[in-house]
Amino acid sequence: FAINMDQLQLDEELGKGNYGTVKKVLHKPTNVAMAMKEIRLELEDAKLNAIIMELDVLHRAVAPEIVEFYGAFFIESCVYYCMEYMDAGSLDKLQGAGVPEDVLARIASSMVRGLKFLKDDLNIIHRDVKPTNVLVNRKGEIKLCDFGISGELDKSLAKTNIGCQSYMAPERIKGESQNNLGTYTVSSDVWSLGLSMIEIGLGRYPYPPETYSNVFAQLTAIVHGDPPELDETKYSEVAREWVAMCLRKDPERRASYRELLEHPFLKKDETSDVNMVEWVEKALAHKATAALLASKAQLPQSV
Ligand code: ADP
Repeated sequence: FAINMDQLQLDEELGKGNYGTVKKVLHKPTNVAMAMKEIRLELEDAKLNAIIMELDVLHRAVAPEIVEFYGAFFIESCVYYCMEYMDAGSLDKLQGAGVPEDVLARIASSMVRGLKFLKDDLNIIHRDVKPTNVLVNRKGEIKLCDFGISGELDKSLAKTNIGCQSYMAPERIKGESQNNLGTYTVSSDVWSLGLSMIEIGLGRYPYPPETYSNVFAQLTAIVHGDPPELDETKYSEVAREWVAMCLRKDPERRASYRELLEHPFLKKDETSDVNMVEWVEKALAHKATAALLASKAQLPQSV
């Protein structure tokens, strides 16, 4: 079935991304809560139609580790993209000061399965793997969203700033056009996966902007410095080795999804009885307390 705006009752705003706003909506005919992303593009209708057609592939992207796609439509120069509502939000806001090893393993395994499914079944490379694009719900499920399905949409997004947090692999930053003709390969996603694991383990982006005088210095550290590692006081050798396999500087030497799944870190997760529901509840409570403290800190001193 095709979704249109008349069927939707708008609810609260869930967040703002680089390209648009995400709102919670209710799809009235089915009574299903959805998340609707608005992407503003200055394009003629023909291009918008091409984008909507390309997004159609997403109806086949059905897997436990992928945020479900319900449909897309456009009004004037905006594309509206409706997807499964994930009631615990994105991982970047749940990681707190870092997650325990069994939770990290479950996140890692979900992400690898999701990425492998996209590649093997749909021939899609994600291209934007980072904690903000990993969504969680109160059932303890972990799912990927925001992958690069539409070439037309990609071309139309104004990629003017790469932001102060780059998850791009060293070879992407260097733009090694001489040997890979600028094509994006799975191994670049594996780097971003490894960097996301470091961030989720640490509770913050591993190349903090305050350490570098500018973005150039930060990118230089990614390209020329040693890759970051998981904290040895918090994580086992097995976990650290797994992440290191993702963060090999040479893309040819980085692990494949199969190797990552067969590594003891994820083999152990298959039989681990980690309570994700409980972890999500705690992380949400922690996030709510932090938000409350932040709002109090903003009150004028005299009050
Ligand atoms: P970005 O462009 O930074 O990747 P998005 O525009 O995709 O960000 O999303 C902005 C925020 O909206 C996310 O950080 C997340 O908190 C929230 N969000 C996005 N999609 C969903 C969803 N399906 N369910 C619940 N919250 C979502």
